[in-house]
Amino acid sequence: MTLRFHQGQSPPVTFACPVCADPGPKPHLLTVGNTQSAEDAGQPLHLYRCDNCLSFTYRPFPQIDYTRHTSTDLRFRDYVELNAAIDLIARNILRAIPDGSSGRLLDIGCGFGFGMAAIRDISGWQVRGFEPSRYGELGRQQLKLDIVNDFANRNADAADRFDIVHCSEVIEHVQDPHEFIDILASYLAHDGVLILTTPDADRIHPRTDPSSLLALLSPGAHTILFSDAALADALKAAGFVHVEVDRSAPSLLVYASRQPLRLHHRSPAEFAELLERHLGRALDRTAPGTPLATGLRYRLFRSAMDRGNYALAETVFTPDLADAAPVIEDLETSEQFGARWPLCIAASTYYLAMLMMIHRADYPGAGRHFRAAARLCRAKIRLSPSTAVVESDLVWRAVYHEALALHYAGETVQSLVRLASFLDLRGVGQPRVPENLHADVERLRDELVGKIERM
Ligand SMILES: [Zn+2]
Repeated sequence: MTLRFHQGQSPPVTFACPVCADPGPKPHLLTVGNTQSAEDAGQPLHLYRCDNCLSFTYRPFPQIDYTRHTSTDLRFRDYVELNAAIDLIARNILRAIPDGSSGRLLDIGCGFGFGMAAIRDISGWQVRGFEPSRYGELGRQQLKLDIVNDFANRNADAADRFDIVHCSEVIEHVQDPHEFIDILASYLAHDGVLILTTPDADRIHPRTDPSSLLALLSPGAHTILFSDAALADALKAAGFVHVEVDRSAPSLLVYASRQPLRLHHRSPAEFAELLERHLGRALDRTAPGTPLATGLRYRLFRSAMDRGNYALAETVFTPDLADAAPVIEDLETSEQFGARWPLCIAASTYYLAMLMMIHRADYPGAGRHFRAAARLCRAKIRLSPSTAVVESDLVWRAVYHEALALHYAGETVQSLVRLASFLDLRGVGQPRVPENLHADVERLRDELVGKIERM
């Protein structure tokens, strides 16, 4: 894979911005190899910046057939077992649903339908989705959802409108965003709420870690990457007078309505309880041993860990979710990785290590599992960099926590040896150490050095 920022060394190209129509020259921001199409793998794609609206556009647009895209079993498993953000999608939609209400949700580009299943179960709303890829067909069967296995066309039936239209990570794939917003609007009741998410163009810069950058760019699949202001302007031009943009996640989250917005705040604990009850019920209905069962169990386990419900985490965990001594040296392809473990294995091994350290006080066991998690993260990053966003974020956290577990186990020197991994004289270590980990690493180092000096 090649990714090169040009930083002014490549001439600009003049074309009309597909978002704001600005006709001026567009600086050539970067060139990146196609990762999304098997036929065009590695073929260079060029991304340009519009200085007027600060959106980015590939030119020419990549061509991709979404009825075939992401249709391999491995990609499907990666999505169902690990990467589909069920919690984020459910939380984003629930913010527009008052307690005790009834209504209809349409999810355009619903994928497997995780968000629809969550809202049907938590709020009792009627749900429908459009999804042209194989994910839609599989979700219709496995989650028993009303998913139309096709693209959404303009809706001419005024009696068939929805209270919420949700469209997550789709608008960055289309060639005419204004026409697409009009199609979304044609499904929305007059007082309905449109919920959009799309990658935040502002996060595309050389300091972003390579896996996150590749996910943002999705070279070969994405066409346009929006700035928050450009997306809000496009929605206002389509008649959505009231627009709210939330930039707290890697994707822009936008609520748009023709009527004043009334979003509903739930505390993180309140939302986690709703989600965990849903995941538990969904798991009870799912055949054991399937990718869906693995994915639901991993997300329930992670949610329980994230909010410190260790009793629940203990009851949810099953041994297939962790490997204390993974053999990775012979792995050459991501298919081999997927044949050996569930795709969530690096993350679920990390969370088991956390459970051992915090709840079971088994520090040697925690150390072994954090070490295993870091190795699994590195294997996934090596074999499948474009799907290793979670692993790129976890790998250094796993190294730090292994050092912490060794410190708690009284293994002072071993702990310091682990921390030495953070020493990178040339600053070229990949992925980069997350900034919010720096202070923790330095504090533990100072404590260990002090302890050794007093020996
Ligand atoms: Zn523009």
